[in-house]
Amino acid sequence: MAIATVNPATGETVQTFQPQTPDEVGAAIARADAAFRELRGTTFEQRAAWMRAAADLVDADNESLARIMTTEMGKTLRSARAEAAKCAKAMRFYADRAEGYLADEPADAAAVGALRAYTRYQPLGIVLAVMPWNFPMWQVVRFAAPALMAGNVGLLKHASNVPQTAMYLHDLYRRAGFPEGAFQTLLIGSRGVERVLRDPRVKAATLTGSEPAGQSVAAICGNEIKKTVLELGGSDAFVVMASADIDKAVSTAIVARCQNNGQSCIAAKRFIVHTDVYDTFVAKYVEQMSALVVGDPMDDATDVGPLATESGLTDIVELVEDARTKGAEILCGGERVGSAGWFYAPTAVAGLKPDMRMYAEETFGPVAGLYRVADIDEAIEVANSTAFGLGSNAWTNDPAEQERLINGLEAGAVFVNGMTTSYPELPFGGIKRSGYGRELSAHGIREFCNLKTVWVG
Ligand code: NAP
Repeated sequence: MAIATVNPATGETVQTFQPQTPDEVGAAIARADAAFRELRGTTFEQRAAWMRAAADLVDADNESLARIMTTEMGKTLRSARAEAAKCAKAMRFYADRAEGYLADEPADAAAVGALRAYTRYQPLGIVLAVMPWNFPMWQVVRFAAPALMAGNVGLLKHASNVPQTAMYLHDLYRRAGFPEGAFQTLLIGSRGVERVLRDPRVKAATLTGSEPAGQSVAAICGNEIKKTVLELGGSDAFVVMASADIDKAVSTAIVARCQNNGQSCIAAKRFIVHTDVYDTFVAKYVEQMSALVVGDPMDDATDVGPLATESGLTDIVELVEDARTKGAEILCGGERVGSAGWFYAPTAVAGLKPDMRMYAEETFGPVAGLYRVADIDEAIEVANSTAFGLGSNAWTNDPAEQERLINGLEAGAVFVNGMTTSYPELPFGGIKRSGYGRELSAHGIREFCNLKTVWVG
């Protein structure tokens, strides 16, 4: 894929970028290596000061940065502003917490015949981050803020359709005071990733993206014995039981499905509703989906902008057509909007069966699958009948049902009576084919550290 900004609201190519040569990539790795030697000798206090300066820059740049993101991948300007603000918050969070999260952990010295025994967290070195376009700032910052605070350095291979956001990130940490080379963007396509991963100076990798990309990076890193964290796709269940607050569940379900124009890994994609409240839920859901405003993402009145790429639109059209031709019922939407840009109408599909692609595959667009279930056992069975295991949502006011769903849903997270969201304070990640490892919280910053055991006699 060419490295270029193509406006998804119009289909127009705004700017193209020349990929870096292998020599240029080699020079960037050398700069990163030198930066690591410098960064690992700095104090938490120094790194925190730089990180807070980076957060201030992101706040100061909020509007221009939001416009870049909206132009490159079509999220509404409103949500792009919120994304930039969330990044600044996470940077300050790790500036405040990193030292505590990585403090030495005392062990029972007497039990192991030592005067002192403890574990110490030390940075690994250069980490390659392969990142997607859907939250083009947030996905990167939730890796970069803890990594840099731990004393690691970052190389970013961003998605090819968000090069301007990638270059903003390239400049950001240097502008904030971090050593030259502490965080750099590599302008390379996915075919250039293997060479970087096999470089002995690169110690680990994190990838957020699709399953094939994760498989490729993990296979190479497995061969090289290098640590990986994978944040892959999801098809989150949104279970609604009869005791739920239906109005709140419906309004949350709309946002959970359609935020970011339906392109979020932790979007609720499958709505699994108890038969006693199914008709009420579906009537309200379809009414509110149909009322969403689809249009120019720069317009503050818009709820749903275009899909980020033409191939993303094609995927959604094919998934819905597959379901329609095999007998599913399209309750609203089900078609492209306009002919310029890559807009698709908010859509609700009922009557999905296991032979339909939507039953098993991730729908990365504003298209919801609705399932009627007889009881909590069937709800859990349908929720778990997917290869994914990222987030999940459970709506019930019955404490016993809450416990059943907390225990029974196969996912890296369960949000009860609320929307699955990422917070710096909470670990984030999946199980099954959604990946492994965790980002955010104390768990995230420790992923790319050497946990060194220290025994002093
Ligand atoms: P993608 O095609 O996998 O792209 C993600 C990144 O991987 C891009 O930088 C891409 O580069 C690169 N890439 C693609 N194939 C590669 C390969 N064989 N080797 C090395 N790098 C490769 O994913 P996408 O379709 O843009 O993103 C959507 C997917 O990401 C969805 O499945 C979504 O659920 C998932 N996602 C997961 C999370 C999470 O936290 N779990 C968060 C957000 C998104 P190019 O752009 O140059 O191809």
